[in-house]
This record gives sequence, C-alpha cells and structure tokens, in this order.
Amino acid sequence: MNFNNISLCVRRRATARNAYSLFRYYSSSSSPEPYDVVIIGGGPAGLTLATALKNSPYTRRLKTLLVEGGSLAHIENWAPGPDHYENRVSSLTPRSAAFLKRLGAWDGHITQDRVKAYDEMKVWDGLDDSARIEFSPDILGQNVDIAYMIENFNLQHGLLSRLAELNSQDENKTIIKDKARVKSIVRGAEWPVVELESGETFSARLLVGADGGNSPARAFAQIEARGWDYNRHGLVASVKLEWEDFRSVAFQRFLKTGPIALLPLPDGFASLVWSCTPKMAAQLKSLPPAAFCSMVNAGFRLGPVDIEYILTTAAEQVAAGKPDVSEWVQDELEWRLENVELVDEDNNLPIQIVDVLPKSRASFPLKMKHADTYVAERVALVGDAAHTTHPLAGQGLNMGQQDVESLVGALETATRRGLDIGSLLAIEPYWSERYFANHLKLGVVDKLHKLYSFDAAPIVALRSWGLSFVNSLDTIKRELMRQASN
Ligand SMILES: Cc1cc2nc3c(=O)[nH]c(=O)nc-3n(C[C@H](O)[C@H](O)[C@H](O)COP(=O)(O)OP(=O)(O)OC[C@H]3O[C@@H](n4cnc5c(N)ncnc54)[C@H](O)[C@@H]3O)c2cc1C
Repeated sequence: MNFNNISLCVRRRATARNAYSLFRYYSSSSSPEPYDVVIIGGGPAGLTLATALKNSPYTRRLKTLLVEGGSLAHIENWAPGPDHYENRVSSLTPRSAAFLKRLGAWDGHITQDRVKAYDEMKVWDGLDDSARIEFSPDILGQNVDIAYMIENFNLQHGLLSRLAELNSQDENKTIIKDKARVKSIVRGAEWPVVELESGETFSARLLVGADGGNSPARAFAQIEARGWDYNRHGLVASVKLEWEDFRSVAFQRFLKTGPIALLPLPDGFASLVWSCTPKMAAQLKSLPPAAFCSMVNAGFRLGPVDIEYILTTAAEQVAAGKPDVSEWVQDELEWRLENVELVDEDNNLPIQIVDVLPKSRASFPLKMKHADTYVAERVALVGDAAHTTHPLAGQGLNMGQQDVESLVGALETATRRGLDIGSLLAIEPYWSERYFANHLKLGVVDKLHKLYSFDAAPIVALRSWGLSFVNSLDTIKRELMRQASN
C-alpha cells in the first residue's frame, strides 16, 4: 500500500466533508460560541489538560470548554464498594503521580485507599522460566515505588473533583459538556468550528484533540497516523487472590502470543492484563469463572503448548454445552503441575487467583500508531490521539500525562509572552519536546513485543542470555527503570 495514495484519498474525502459541513455551518442562523481552548475528549488526557489549564496562574483565564461523547456523570458520582474494582486499571509512573500532585488532584481528590503502589517487578520468559529480570527495593533503593496501580475511573473522578474545586474558586469556569459527541469539525473564517450532534457549535482559538486512537481532531487537521495492528487483544479482568499478597509485586510472563501480567490492587485484588490472539481472548471470556481462574493460574505456570491445549479444549466444551468444564480445567492444571518444575514458586510466582469479578472480563484490540506531528495551525493532539502503544510496558496513559504537562508549559509561555495560543509559534515547542521522546518509547515497546513473539530456539537462547545478563547488572536495571518512569 502506498501511503501517499492513502493520504490523498483521506484528504479528498476530508475536503468534501469539510465543504458540506462548512455549507451547513454558514447556512445555520446562530454563530458558533468562541472559546480560547476547546478540548475534545474527557478521558484521562482531556481531563488532566482541563485541570492543568485551570490550575495554572497563566492559563486559568483562558475560556475553556471540554466536550465528551460519553457520560461523565457516572464517573463524577463514582462510589464503588470495597468488593468491587474496575477492570480498566493503569500503572501510573512516579512522574505522572508527581504531576497530579502538583495539580492538586492526587491528594484529597483521588481515593488513595484504592491505589496500590508496587516496589518490585518480576518479568520472565515463558519459554525459559529461568530467564528473568527483577527490579526490587534492594536495587532501586528503599522507599522507591516503581508505579501506582489506579483504576482509570478513580483518576478521572479525582480530576473532575479537583476541577470542580478550582471552578468554585473562579468566576471564569471551565465548561464540561458530556454526552456531547462531536459530529463535525470545519475550518471557520479563522478558527476551527466544532459542531456537536445536538447542533451546538463552538469555535476554538486552539482545538485540542484528546479524543483517543480514532481522533476526529487528527482527521480534521489531516495529520497522518502511521503504525500497525498487532492482531492481539488485551484481555483485562479484576481478580481476587487466594490471600492478600503483602509483597507489592507486579508479575509479567512473556508468552509467544503476548505477555500475561498480574498487577496488584489493594485488599487482595489484582488486575489482569493478558495480551493474546483475538481467538484466545474470546475463548477466555467464554469460560465459566472458575475455569477462567484456573486458566490464568496456568498462564503463569505451564508451557505454551499446555496452555493452548487446555484453553482450546475447554472453550470447545463450553461451546458444546458440556457441564463441569471448570473441574476438567482444574484437574488438567493440577496433574500437569505435578510434572513441572517451578522455579522457586513462593518467590517468583503470583499468588493463585480464586475468583474473577462479574462482568470484569473485557478485551481491547492492540495497536501501535504514531501521528506524523502533534500540532497544526490551531490544533494540538495529546494522549492516544497522538500515539497508541502495546500495554506491555504500561506507558500509554503516562505518555499522555507528559504530553499534557508539556502542552500546558508551552501555553503558559505563550500567554506570558502575549502570543496567540493557537499559532504554531505557540504550540510547536510542545511537539518538539514530546515527539522524539514518545517515538523512542513506542519503538522500544514495539521491539520488545516482536522479540518475544519468536519461538525459534536460537532467538530464545539469545534473549534468555540477554535478560539474564541485564539482570546481573544493577546499574543497567536502575537506568532502565529511570527511563521507564520518565
Ligand atoms: C488493556 C490495556 C491496558 C493498559 N494499561 C495501561 C497502563 O498500565 N499504563 C498506561 O500508562 N497505559 C495503559 N494503557 C493505555 C491507556 O489506557 C491509554 O493510553 C489511555 O486511556 C488513553 O487516554 P486518552 O485520554 O488519551 O484517550 P481515551 O481514554 O481513548 O479517551 C478519549 C475520549 O475521547 C472521547 N471521544 C472520542 N471521539 C469523540 C467525539 N467524536 N466526540 C466527543 N468525544 C469523543 C471518547 O469518548 C473518550 O472518552 C492500557 C491500554 C489497554 C488497552
């Protein structure tokens, strides 16, 4: 496929769409309400940006609007019980947490007793269980947290709460409109004009696309995003451990189909992310809860051939309406485990899971995509609108936080200097600060995914040697951790 042809096609279609929307916009009687900043998207990136703009003494006077297609009311009123954990959970790096602290959102707005810090990480190769890399307090330093596990709702709820607090102290309020899907964006006389499905229109001195992987703002700005589909799904679930693990460890085992990770949550809960083929994700979702738990325990303990055999057979049994599938899976797991030599189970493996929370199993297609640029005249992209990555290193949301920090920095400078905040002069420093840093992370994560999808013996031997070598060098491990959390 020729990228130039695709790009030409996209441009022609966008131009035709623009012309039609522009016609509708000029033939409608009311003129669009002007804003300094219109943010599309109330996900983690959009809400962080709205809060950061309102928190800064330089940008809080900007007239700002955030529009979100979904409902934010249920996130605002989010009050989960102690026996419930959401399935969309992210590991926040200390740098992201520090940023949220500076915004005033971390303390007093994010529910801290639902956040779990971890200071140890164990990563190993499913084709050679002795090839592992470990990050522990001895190496990184006592009291150094690697990351914080947080439900995305907890983060968004905290940001909405902090924004409401900032709004209450200021006459110039940031407006949030939820259930407000953007129908079209056109180039008005000077500024972009956003039209909602309700028919309302707004013009933006600066339009920010925080609108996720299929960003309408990116399409409007005709910015190409390049990358590929991994043909993998990230299967997530909230699970209960047999007993509470007081170690605060994150576990990740690389299987040929993708890594399986168990990340700690408070109160003996954990968050599962199993990157696997779409077929495996569908099979895992089809299993009864007990069989699913046994399969996850198998995912950390058995070889790939055994995992595939048990999962495929169990899914066939479910499809055929056979009873007792869970007993069959557990029996298969137990007798196989009798013949597997686990490398120091007490230290190296997660505690077995015994339950999966109802309706918490879901899967998401995994992609690598990077926009050619993050800025165009009067448009900036942040978060997944600018880049999407495989979740194996827990970087997507964190990169979005850093984008926001950098964009707000650029806008602060622009307002201090009296620049037009929508001009390229104002927003280009954001792009130049973030693009290559993100590009490097996207590249490293992509190569890691590819490296572990090979099962040819020489490659497995080489990567096992590499992993063991790196594991023996504390300085390199400290540097790796510093890079990952920056
Ligand atoms: C399985 C999995 C595990 C992950 N784990 C981690 C992790 O541990 N750590 C980490 O850092 N990252 C992780 N990520 C990545 C992280 O979830 C994303 O990077 C992050 O959610 C992106 O946030 P965002 O605000 O940029 O985009 P989104 O969360 O996609 O938000 C975009 C918003 O825009 C809205 N929108 C879109 N179109 C319109 C429209 N036309 N009109 C109005 N609104 C619109 C959408 O409704 C949505 O609310 C993971 C991802 C997956 C799939």
